[in-house]
Amino acid sequence: MAEASPHVVVTSLDDAEKRITDFEVETVTTFTIFRRNKGFRKDINGLAEHKVKWEDVSRGEGPKIQYNGTPFIILGWDVRECQFGPDRNVKQKQKYQLEKTLEGKKDHSYTQKGRTLLQNTKKQDCPARIHSKRICIFPEYKINGPDSIWKRKDQSQRLKAALKDKKNKVAWKEEIHILFPSHDDHRNHVTGQLAGFCQPVDKVIKKKIQCLMDEGVTKVAEMKRHLKSFSKKDLGKTSTQNRRFYPLDKDIRNVMDSYKNQTRFSKDDKENLEQLLEKYKSMNEKDSFYLYISETEDFLFVGQTEWQKRLLNIYGQEICLLDATYKTTKYDLPAFLYVSTPMLVTLLLAASLLQMKRRSQ
Ligand SMILES: [Zn+2]
Repeated sequence: MAEASPHVVVTSLDDAEKRITDFEVETVTTFTIFRRNKGFRKDINGLAEHKVKWEDVSRGEGPKIQYNGTPFIILGWDVRECQFGPDRNVKQKQKYQLEKTLEGKKDHSYTQKGRTLLQNTKKQDCPARIHSKRICIFPEYKINGPDSIWKRKDQSQRLKAALKDKKNKVAWKEEIHILFPSHDDHRNHVTGQLAGFCQPVDKVIKKKIQCLMDEGVTKVAEMKRHLKSFSKKDLGKTSTQNRRFYPLDKDIRNVMDSYKNQTRFSKDDKENLEQLLEKYKSMNEKDSFYLYISETEDFLFVGQTEWQKRLLNIYGQEICLLDATYKTTKYDLPAFLYVSTPMLVTLLLAASLLQMKRRSQ
């Protein structure tokens, strides 16, 4: 495979993002942002505060900008590392693992029991990086003819003065210089088509999953079928080994779960419950719901729908109260009110009552 040109110049951040994505797809690699300064993303203003430059060839790893007569200022920079680069979040990961373990031991935990992984990180210390520099050039202040220190100084001063003058609009153009690594810069991990198996899911695929979920796709298998056809027909990706465009079941499940979490009202279950009850109340005014949540996490929920009320009126001569989880958990949980219908010889739920109080012991 021919190496892509390592130094690329584009004229907008969107173009830069697109070039980087294209590069990743073409080389079956993934890069994550390691460092970036504010100026890399910020709207362009306050140009007068920057130093006017004519070249940027200092040692260091970023793209070199050679002298071509046009002055410029450096707005910002961005460094991305190969996904197999150095492990930078060891402490945070340890903290997360510890929290997860503790959470797993709690009663009513939503966290699944974690597996012990022999290698719990994909980091391999690969040094490959993509460096970007965002600059602003001023073509109107280009030095014509031979270069000289005096000319540079003179022109810089004129440009600085013009930039400081608010009434005067100085014409500028944005440029983003990107320096891509070569294939040989990658170390300690497989590259090429084989690396497809280690690729994270592409942004486009994530978007597609969200769209399909909005359209009502809920099953992983169904999602997978849709994605397969999308990657093949719409995106023209044929390598089914590449997880970036052909995610595994667990990748799809992860994306779906995280989207579900995002679109939920809140991470706080109590808040969700309150909102849900408001919704129920508005659906039928004759249904009754009562919710009380105290600051000390005690709460009481009572609910009875219209048909349950009717049932109680007709058959409520004898009722039965049932504590469904008596002494089985450390919370006091549901109590049901059952009504038996003598005709049908069945038990029907006529109201539910949920009280939670943390026991002292
Ligand atoms: Zn690498």
